[in-house]
Amino acid sequence: MSKVRHIVAFSGGKDSSALAIYLHDPERWRRALGKQGLPPRPPLEEAEYVFCDTGTELAETYDYLDRLEAYLGRPIQRLRANVPPSKPGEPDKTPFDHYLELYGGFLPSPNMRWCTRMLKLKPFEDYIGDDPVISYVGIRADEGEWRVDPETQRKYFQHRKGYISTKPNIKTVFPFIEDGLVKADIYRILDDSGVGRPDYYTWRSRSGCYFCFFQRKSEWVGLLEHHPDLYKRAMEYEKIDPETGERFTWSDAESLAELARPERIAEIKRRTKEREERLRKSRANVTLMEQFFDEVRDLEDSGAGCNICHL
Ligand code: SF4
Repeated sequence: MSKVRHIVAFSGGKDSSALAIYLHDPERWRRALGKQGLPPRPPLEEAEYVFCDTGTELAETYDYLDRLEAYLGRPIQRLRANVPPSKPGEPDKTPFDHYLELYGGFLPSPNMRWCTRMLKLKPFEDYIGDDPVISYVGIRADEGEWRVDPETQRKYFQHRKGYISTKPNIKTVFPFIEDGLVKADIYRILDDSGVGRPDYYTWRSRSGCYFCFFQRKSEWVGLLEHHPDLYKRAMEYEKIDPETGERFTWSDAESLAELARPERIAEIKRRTKEREERLRKSRANVTLMEQFFDEVRDLEDSGAGCNICHL
């Protein structure tokens, strides 16, 4: 039987990155975080680090992966979906563009998430093959919600579920849940290790494609302000049928051209500020950015986000 492989898949976000740092030297971090009395966890010396690259990631994500590689002292393998080479004279297509064509030009959406399946999960599963694998996933101990068992009326905490591979040779484990690490611990690991947080965190809370349809309106505004070229590219994917009026847009409610109107941007910013203000008042001892992330995380907890893209 083949040797068990240990794999940490990065999304380019904070949780999967903190997980790799934690597993690199668990005892150091347990001491620093005051997590004593846990079952021994040897350092993950033979881990394979991977990142599923859609070809439509932010430059900040690639920079962050470089920082992580420097810290871990090991390469992060960039996995890309296998797509045929472009014809002579044609520009190279990203894996996303290749699949968009195969899916008849239909943009992915929360209900038709072919992008995660074809650009993230499939390359990951192809890379693994049939070998026995332990896949380490960075869902935190504080991600989820309290529920009541209808039979016993007992309260229990339901951890967030992931959009993860279900291949029988892959065993998924959740070290942060097992060891009780919460969001504050993740920030501590990132800050104390010197790796820090991804640069896009000043305006966007999630990793993944620049046009990800899970983005909040305020994050689209952030994209427009920080990467106007990418915003324009995202706009070019949108189509409105001139005859039927049928809309193929990233968001059902409005197109990116509509969202980019100055009065609309001003409205989105005003609403974001009001929401932050409300949150600040209700949770005075939590930083503003963490509150913002909390709110986004709430959306992800509802099943909107996906681990392999956003953790
Ligand atoms: S980041 Fe968003 S758009 Fe990209 S693959 Fe994941 S769900 Fe799809």
